[in-house]
Amino acid sequence: MENLLTKENFQCDRYCGQCCKKLVVRVNKEDIEKIRKLGYKEEDFLERDLLYRSKFVLKKDNDKCIFLKKHKDRRYSCKIYKNRPKTCLQYPFFAKNKVGSCMPNKMYPSAFVSFT
Ligand code: SF4
Ligand code: SF4
Repeated sequence: MENLLTKENFQCDRYCGQCCKKLVVRVNKEDIEKIRKLGYKEEDFLERDLLYRSKFVLKKDNDKCIFLKKHKDRRYSCKIYKNRPKTCLQYPFFAKNKVGSCMPNKMYPSAFVSFT
């Protein structure tokens, strides 16, 4: 099937930033270390997870990830793209039976989703 949406062929082509506005990005130790090495201080990019108080999530500013950058052409990009957390790397394929709300242009509206 030509338009099958899979982990392998998924590619953002709208740069709308919606994923980085909607997602609560939980981070693990490795994620935090990678971002710290870029020169960011933990207190500037981390906050307590409201559901799991021993864990952390990326801070938001005006309901969007603090690392989300808006460009003049209204497209968005990630300031730490090469070092983004695992949660972001997985998007929109989080679990076997779940897919995020993203639908790249070239696959809309006739996309199908494969979890294999
Ligand atoms: S929601 Fe999808 S199309 Fe929009 S920026 Fe995120 S990955 Fe790209
Ligand atoms: S770290 Fe980057 S990819 Fe992840 S939510 Fe923030 S802006 Fe988006």
